Parts: sequence; C-alpha cells; structure tokens
Amino acid sequence: MKIKKIEMFLTKLELLQPFRTHLGTVSERESILLKMTDMDGVSGWGEVVAFSSPWYTEETIQTSWHMLEDFFIPSLLQGQWEHPGEIHNALLVWKGNPMARAGVEMAAWDLFAKRAGKSLADFIGGTRKRIDAGVVVSVDTPSKMIDAINLRVKEGYQRVKVKIDPGHDYEMLHAIRREFPQLALMADANSAYTLNDVDRLKKLDEFQLLMIEQPLASDDIIEHAELQKALSTPICLDESIVSYNDAVHAIKLGSCQVINIKIGRVGGLTNAIRIHDLCMRNGIPVWCGGMLETGISRSFNIALASLPNFTIPGDISSSSRYWKKDVIEPEVVVTQGKISVPTSPGIGHSVNEKYIKEISAKIKTFQKEDL
Ligand SMILES: [Mg+2]
Repeated sequence: MKIKKIEMFLTKLELLQPFRTHLGTVSERESILLKMTDMDGVSGWGEVVAFSSPWYTEETIQTSWHMLEDFFIPSLLQGQWEHPGEIHNALLVWKGNPMARAGVEMAAWDLFAKRAGKSLADFIGGTRKRIDAGVVVSVDTPSKMIDAINLRVKEGYQRVKVKIDPGHDYEMLHAIRREFPQLALMADANSAYTLNDVDRLKKLDEFQLLMIEQPLASDDIIEHAELQKALSTPICLDESIVSYNDAVHAIKLGSCQVINIKIGRVGGLTNAIRIHDLCMRNGIPVWCGGMLETGISRSFNIALASLPNFTIPGDISSSSRYWKKDVIEPEVVVTQGKISVPTSPGIGHSVNEKYIKEISAKIKTFQKEDL
C-alpha cells in the first residue's frame, strides 16, 4: 500500500456536560482527526486523543499537530506499507508523543482492515460480538452523584467509575456504597495520593471497590508495588503504563492487578494489542479506558475491547453521553449495558466528513507531490 494523501482536521466539539477532575475541567473538546487515503482510493480514519492542556499526560493538541505535521506524516508519505505494524515501526525513529503517533497509526489500521474487507475487530483477532459498557460519573455533591449513578444504572451501564482525591474519597464513596451496595464501582485517583496516604487508602478497602486506579504518581511503578501489598483493593495502573516495557515492569514488581489500556497513551493499536497479549499470558485482566473521544477513537476502543482478555467493562459509553452529534454514523449506542461490535469493514461506522469540516478550526492536507 502506498499512501496518496493524509488530511488533518483540528476539530472542536462542545461536551454536553463539562467534565471535571481535580486537575482540570474540559468543556469544549479539541481533537485532531486524520484521514489517510491510499493510491487505490481507500481511506481510513484516526484520532489524536490528547487534550488541549497537559493535565492527563504531557502531550497536547498543539504538540501533536506539530509532531504530525513536521515529522510523522512527511516520513510516512514516502514509504510502501504492507501492514499497520510497519507504520508503527517506522515511527519508532522518533521519541515519545504516543498520542500523536497513535492517531496516524489508527488511520492505517482502519485503512488496512478496509482493504482486507474485514471489520477492525476481526482484523485484530477480536472474539466478542458485544462488549460491556461502563461509565464515568463526574465529582459533585453526593446526592447529585447518586442521581447521576441511578440514571446510568437504569440505562444499563455495568460498571461505574468515580474520580477521587483526598478531598473527595471516603465520605463520597460511603454515600454511594450505602445507596448501591452491589454496584460494580471503581475509583480513579489520577495520581492524587502519595505513600503518606496509605492509611487513608486502606480505609477504602471496606467499599469492596472493583479497583482503585492510579493512586500514586504518574511516573511511578515501584511505590505502587509497595501500596498494593498494603491494600486488599486491586490497584489498576493507567498513566504509569505508557509503553510495553512499563507493563512488563509493573507485572514483574506486582505494582498492579489490573491494567487500563488506552490506545493513545500506549502509542497506538500495535502496542495496545501487545500489552493485551502480555497481560493475558500473566493473568492480569485489562479494560479499555476512555479519553472523551469522538466516535472515531470510540470505535477503535470497541474493536480493541473485543479481544479476549478485556474481561472488565471499559469507559466505553454511548456517543450521546458526551455529544449532541457525533462525527460517525450510526453513533455508538449502549443497549442494556452492551455495545455491539460492528461487523462491516474497518471501524464499521461511516465518518461524516461534511460535519467534520464544519467543526474544523484548521485543516491541512499532505499529498505525495507536495514533498
Ligand atoms: Mg484513569
């Protein structure tokens, strides 16, 4: 396959409800959407899931645009490719910037799956026809959170995640647990604690949480191993796992019992699949984390979550949970807590390019002849 052109769209979509964590609030979601077209006219789509500011990891929309525009895309236009894994390998000459590289690699995966006439899930060896949907509920007063959880439980979501920090943990979880004793509930700390908080975190064991996600520093693997020894609640690592080797180290040290795989954070679908396979060999269940993404990245998450070791419901919700109108058709829909894995070629949804152009603040096209 030779690439004919790659288009980049800097889009802005307003969230139905602002999303808050202790590190920042997101109300308008900027994304970079990428369209890769080959010489036969087949196109694939990808998405850069970095945020506008570096509150989750160090990448931003602007740094990703720069990497793609000045380094990644020009080099890919030169080559000839037989598998998306080769695109992944070609980008290894540069360091870092996992979300930017994941975005362009995603477009190649969609394109190659379409060329093969297979759904993306089939193309990567997925085995599930339907996946379980989980949802994140924003931090608010306990009564508002209980109302929000009630609504999501009625909609059929099978797992609820709440964000915690030292100002919102024991009391908040206590109130939720009292109301929902059986709920599959988990807490994501986004690195809000240190090892000085061991006693505070131990108190959360009584809530029988499915897991506590990323309690300690985003670059730590060693202290999480120490904390895990003190807690009965399983630790899940998110921000700490940005590469295959991080996952190897965390498993070896006993730093976690669960891993959250995000395609963007680990540098693309090739790495996401490798980490999935590693975790399966080591008896570590995985789930797929969300990034407030559009339907393009969301459909990649669905395909990824169809792999056999994704045994815990991920942050994969309906498009309508976040957007008035998504960029894909049909939109992602949760029915009785499940999402059907598409069976048509590639990501299995058509992409509304006209709408993407309407919501784009910037568009750039790279063609072979431009170089
Ligand atoms: Mg997380």
